[in-house]
Amino acid sequence: MGISIRLRIRRKLAAVAAAAVATGLLGGAVGCAGGLGGAVSGGTASGSGTGALGASAPGRSASPRPTSQANDGVPAVGRSGAAAALDWRTASGGRTVALTFDDGPDPVWTPRVLDVLARYHAHAVFCEIGPQASANPALVRRILAAGDRLCDHTVHHDEAMHRLPAPRMTYEITGAQRMIQTAGGPGTRVGWFRAPGGDFTPTIRRIAAGHGMRPLAWTVDTRDWSRPGVAAILAHVRAELRPGGIVLMHDGGGNREETVAALRQLLPWLQQQGFRLDFPAA
Ligand SMILES: [Zn+2]
Repeated sequence: MGISIRLRIRRKLAAVAAAAVATGLLGGAVGCAGGLGGAVSGGTASGSGTGALGASAPGRSASPRPTSQANDGVPAVGRSGAAAALDWRTASGGRTVALTFDDGPDPVWTPRVLDVLARYHAHAVFCEIGPQASANPALVRRILAAGDRLCDHTVHHDEAMHRLPAPRMTYEITGAQRMIQTAGGPGTRVGWFRAPGGDFTPTIRRIAAGHGMRPLAWTVDTRDWSRPGVAAILAHVRAELRPGGIVLMHDGGGNREETVAALRQLLPWLQQQGFRLDFPAA
């Protein structure tokens, strides 16, 4: 089901964002503590959320920067206590980094990502598509058993969620949360929500926070979904990573051979650079 839907998804990577990233400007702006979107929304994705590139890439998962980032009008805390403001940084700050993997769990690629993480005693957040969690409950439980954490990535991976009527929006968010919790078993916590394509409107963020999930952004877009080559994936990290940053990668949505290979090099590189892995702020 997810595949056919994703075939129709338009890519939304904004040309402005790409240019900013190429010069390393964006990563710096985002990485600043307290920058919290203001500096980013001005220079990156347009308010419309429709990027300038718009090229189709069947079967792949887009990873544009969050397209709706202003926190205006969003209460700081949702009904269940999660903050509705976009989460741009690690819990500890300082020289830490959080790794996040979207679009799984995938029976081929998620185990390989977990194997590499385990080899380096590294942990990550997995942003899962509900039906894929339902189809791969053992993988969800393996993620939890490894000490990694879970994030809701909707039921249908619609990258234009803001166009949905509110009840449908709520279903996309809470339906996937339930599927992930059921797959993980009793007590499973889903601490974050990541909107597909970064389509974080105030309403979407408020719904997620109201169900206990902090909206989770990113500061480093590896663009691994586009399979640009291992060297390019690593170059994106080197160019954009700042202390406290959140790295976006993918363990689903297509062939992730490059992601796995990049991760094998990324983890020792992070260690050499003195980065400690952390989770995003709660
Ligand atoms: Zn995704």
